[in-house]
Amino acid sequence: MLSDQQLARKSLEYRRDTLRWIKHSGAGHTGGSLSCTDILNVLYNRILRVSPQSFSSPTRDRYIQSKGHSVESLFVVLADQGFYQQEELASLCRYESHFVGHPTKKIPGVEQNTGALGHGLPISAGIAIGGKLDNADFRVFTLLGDGELAEGSNWEAAMAAAHYKLDNLTAIVDCNTLQITGHTANVMNNEPLAEKFQAFGWAVRSIDGHDIRELTAALSTPLETGKPSAIIARTVKGKGVSFMENVGKWHHGVPSDEEYAQALSELNSALKALPETC
Ligand SMILES: [Mg+2]
Repeated sequence: MLSDQQLARKSLEYRRDTLRWIKHSGAGHTGGSLSCTDILNVLYNRILRVSPQSFSSPTRDRYIQSKGHSVESLFVVLADQGFYQQEELASLCRYESHFVGHPTKKIPGVEQNTGALGHGLPISAGIAIGGKLDNADFRVFTLLGDGELAEGSNWEAAMAAAHYKLDNLTAIVDCNTLQITGHTANVMNNEPLAEKFQAFGWAVRSIDGHDIRELTAALSTPLETGKPSAIIARTVKGKGVSFMENVGKWHHGVPSDEEYAQALSELNSALKALPETC
């Protein structure tokens, strides 16, 4: 298994590649892709039992990215996992490319079309029910945006997941406090989020969504037998690039040449600051 330091290196490389392809394509959901990078890193390199070889197996773990617009970081991580060559992302957002601005099942490694928000949790709950009916031991993970939780379908699914005791289901909320139109607290306040999931019958843990160890501990096993798990991952939108962090306009946006150079410089400096051995 890769060490914490090796994963820290991967996170920086993933962020660098995410920006590279957003810059190349001329479009992208930049801030949200950067906020969920560490979550994807830990899921794919430590938690999920899924690979290009096992992707058609009914026993594989499932990952459904409900906040589908933050697809660029997912595309980068799937390339790193060997689902396709990274250079295929040169076609991102190009005419007739399957690498569009949301996940689609035409991309190897993608379980579900998502990005119409509020669908990932209901779909995941359904798959988890199927797993229970089959006595299968796979787990189902879904990544939700905090702004996405304004969609009522999430709460119908949350109620059903607890009712059916879906301890094979884990929902991770990328809680970066921002959404397309501003601060989530102002657009549609969803706090106190942990208490809401608890009231719906879920086991809940709040963590730093950029901390490799906290993510690993929270995701390695279901939090509680007989209950679905909700991980409230506190994150920073635009994480890793100083001028993008917590700035709403980077919800989507392509850096200028100067901004791109600065972002690369910051990420490369962070890479150089890591210990030589990782
Ligand atoms: Mg958000």
